[in-house]
Amino acid sequence: MSMNKICIIGGGPAGLSSAIKAAESGFDVKLYEMGEIGDNVRCAEGFIDTLNLLEKPEAGIRFKVKEMLVRCSDETYKLDVSPIRLWMIDRREWQRHLADKARSLGVEILENYPVTPDILKKMKDEYLWIIDGSGVIPVTSRLYNFQWFYTKNCGVTFQYLIEGDFTFLHEKILAGLEPRYTGYYWIFPKGTYQANVGIGILKYEGQVLRHELDRILEKEGLTRDYGYTIKQAIGGLCPNVIPHKVVYDNIILIGDACGLTSPFHGGGIDLACISGKVAVEAVLEERVDTYKQELLKIIGDKLSLEQELVNFWEAAGFELVNRLLKRFSKYKKFPYLIMNPAKYSQQLITLLKILKNTEGKSKRVH
Ligand SMILES: Cc1cc2nc3c(=O)[nH]c(=O)nc-3n(C[C@H](O)[C@H](O)[C@H](O)COP(=O)(O)OP(=O)(O)OC[C@H]3O[C@@H](n4cnc5c(N)ncnc54)[C@H](O)[C@@H]3O)c2cc1C
Repeated sequence: MSMNKICIIGGGPAGLSSAIKAAESGFDVKLYEMGEIGDNVRCAEGFIDTLNLLEKPEAGIRFKVKEMLVRCSDETYKLDVSPIRLWMIDRREWQRHLADKARSLGVEILENYPVTPDILKKMKDEYLWIIDGSGVIPVTSRLYNFQWFYTKNCGVTFQYLIEGDFTFLHEKILAGLEPRYTGYYWIFPKGTYQANVGIGILKYEGQVLRHELDRILEKEGLTRDYGYTIKQAIGGLCPNVIPHKVVYDNIILIGDACGLTSPFHGGGIDLACISGKVAVEAVLEERVDTYKQELLKIIGDKLSLEQELVNFWEAAGFELVNRLLKRFSKYKKFPYLIMNPAKYSQQLITLLKILKNTEGKSKRVH
C-alpha cells in the first residue's frame, strides 16, 4: 500500500472539495462516482455560505439572492438577504467545474463506477485512507450495517423542477410555512423560466409529500392552468445528526454521509465542502482520531443553535412563529439570526429566552 494514496467515494460537493484539497496537499487521489459528475443532484440549489468560510462558487451561479420572501398564513414577509452569501446555482455546472479543477490538479476521476460494500472492503487494503462522500445512504453504512441511522435522523423532502414564468421572483427566493407540519416549502428559481419547488418536513409524521406539494402548487398558482409544467420529481433525505462514530477503520465520513445538513433548513452544501476539507487536513496532520472534534469546533455552534431554533419552533407552534415573523422580520439583523445563527449566538439565545418567557406556548393548529 502506498502511503500517499487516498480514495474518495462520491463526486458531490463533499467528495469534490475533498479531492481538490487532497490533491493540493500532495496526495495521489482517485475519486469514484457511481454516475457522471453532476447527474445525481437532489437539491433546491441554494448555495448559502452560513459560516463565511467558502469561496464564492466559481461556476454555475444563476443569481445572487437579494430578497427572501417568507409566506406564513396570508402574510408575506420580505427579508433583505443581500448582505448574506447566498446564491442560486446550477449544481451540475458547478460540480463539473470542480471536477475539471480536480483533474487539473492530478485527481483521477472514475465515473460510472458504483462502489459496492464488497469493493469498499477491497479498497480498504489498497488505500491509506478512504473518504466516503457518497451521500445518503452511504456505502460505508452498508458495509458496517448502520443504514438505519440515517432514516431515523433526517428531514424528508420532495421536489419538482417546474418550468413556467418565474419573473415574479426576480433575484428572490420564497419559503412558505404552514400549520400542517414543522418544515416549509420553497420556490427557488433557477432563472426566469425554471424553479425548484419543494417541501421539506423536519419531523416526518407519515405525510404523503407528493400530495402536500401538489396542494402547494394549487395554492401558489403554479399549475398547468397557469402555464407551469412539472419536468422532474425527486425525493430525498436530509440527514441532520452526526453519527457517534465517523471513522470506520480507515474510512472517514464526510458531507451527508456524516449526517451534515442543517437541522433547521436542510442546507448541506456548505457543510459538505467544509467537512471534505477538514477530513483531508486530519489525514495530512495524522490526527484522524480528532476529525470529529475538529469539525465540531467549526460547525458545532451553528448546528446546536439551529437545533435550538427547531425545538423552539416545535414548542411554540405555527401561530407564535407567525407572530414573531410579523414582529421581527423588518429588523435588518433578522435574516442573520435565522441563516447564520452562530454569528449572532448570544443575541439569538437571549431572544429565544425572552420569547419563551413572554409569549408562552401556543397550541399547534392542525
Ligand atoms: C430536495 C433537497 C433539496 C436540498 N436543497 C438544498 C439547498 O438548496 N441548499 C443546500 O445547501 N443543501 C440542500 N440540500 C442538501 C444538499 O443537497 C446535500 O447536503 C449535499 O448535496 C450533500 O453533498 P454530498 O457531497 O455529501 O452528497 P451528494 O450531493 O449526495 O453527493 C454524493 C455523490 O456520491 C455518488 N455516490 C453515491 N453512492 C455512491 C457509490 N456507492 N459509489 C460511488 N458514488 C456514489 C452520488 O452519485 C453523488 O454524486 C437539499 C437536499 C434535498 C434532498
